[in-house]
Amino acid sequence: MSMTNRWDATALAGLGEEMYRWIERLYPLCRSITGAGVEDTLAVLREQVPLHIERVPSGTKVFDWKVPREWNIRDAYVKDPTGRRVIDFHANNLHVVSYSRPVHKQVSLAELKAHTFTIPEQPDWIPYRTSYYAENWGFCAAHNVVNALPDGMYEVCVDASLQDGHLAYGEYLHHGYSEEEVLFSTHTCHPSLCNDNLSGIALNAMLASLISQVQTRYSYRFLFIPGTIGSITWLSRNQQRAQSIKHGLVVTCVGDGGPFRYKRSRRGDAEIDRAVEYVLRHTGGAYQISDFSPYGYDERQYCSPGFNLAVGSLTRSSHRQYPQYHTSADDLGFIGPNWLEESLSVYLKVISVLETNQFYVNKFPFCEPQLGRRGLYDDVGAHPDPNAFRMALLWVLNQSDGEHALLDIAEKSQIPIDTVAEAASALHHSGLLEMAAARP
Ligand code: ZN
Repeated sequence: MSMTNRWDATALAGLGEEMYRWIERLYPLCRSITGAGVEDTLAVLREQVPLHIERVPSGTKVFDWKVPREWNIRDAYVKDPTGRRVIDFHANNLHVVSYSRPVHKQVSLAELKAHTFTIPEQPDWIPYRTSYYAENWGFCAAHNVVNALPDGMYEVCVDASLQDGHLAYGEYLHHGYSEEEVLFSTHTCHPSLCNDNLSGIALNAMLASLISQVQTRYSYRFLFIPGTIGSITWLSRNQQRAQSIKHGLVVTCVGDGGPFRYKRSRRGDAEIDRAVEYVLRHTGGAYQISDFSPYGYDERQYCSPGFNLAVGSLTRSSHRQYPQYHTSADDLGFIGPNWLEESLSVYLKVISVLETNQFYVNKFPFCEPQLGRRGLYDDVGAHPDPNAFRMALLWVLNQSDGEHALLDIAEKSQIPIDTVAEAASALHHSGLLEMAAARP
């Protein structure tokens, strides 16, 4: 059974709901690049996937960076002159600037405003802001709320600690027949925000769970890491191992109803780029493809020139492309189980293409071998699409010179890759083809 059949729409039914339920559980946790929110998130994911948790001490040098101190927050608020909480971390964790240093004092309205971020164009939404690498304190709030505050003295409190500790990330490696790896990497550092990136976390966990149940050609590595510093830390600790990564995707922003968007790897013409584009072209919905740019998420690190890994990013409405991006409106209502399931299906199709895309060599390259004598025309008769299968046999025989993999043949012949793969398998069985090593 091919992987595509195994993961057809019936098999995936209900998995969107399941991912959505994980997201509902993870939504209230206050994640950041370090701290208890990340640990709690990884603990929930471990119920689904046997994640290995790595903890890297603060201060560890990772390439040109240092693992930061651990941030843990208990409470944060602003009280107005009457003692009422007008900004409250417990109502929404976006209210505190992530990594805000502790503070507890009385400030004037002017000073409060200087430390408070709002979005005037979306006056009811709370923005998401961070202060990872510049020590400061701050709040985020709806513009309408801040605008309505009367003059007077305000009590500001961020009850947080910023101390030496660890940066935690989750990792799961599924061993395939080959040591060559496919990487799926997602960031775990955003607090109560759904599309960016609880959707990516849930999809990555679901992929890991599904892959763990099957035998695969490639090995699959799933990373759950804080954005930027997490991939830098992983790459710094696995510089050698990273060479085994042959294909990869950064999994993020996969829960909304926007069209799929694929950002190519820095190489631009890597097998992963062609596999994703092939799947999107044949999936039916609208999609967009863009070339690599050194912005966005962790593809920036995987595609830094020293690594230049074949890692692209397959998203829906992504990084700065939707008004709700990095605001409280990127909530449970912005994403949907059906969209998550659709994204899962596309990711699985990409995996299926990668698994299928082998090289073969025709052992009878001098004129066409006789197919009838080998029972291959009986296979044609038995196939649901006999014409396509017959043509696929001829295409595979003709193109299998060790230079054309099955994806090349599917594209040239315009025959679905599953049919091309079935033809190759029949020809291989009858002794007409042998498998060839992939091009380096
Ligand atoms: Zn983000």
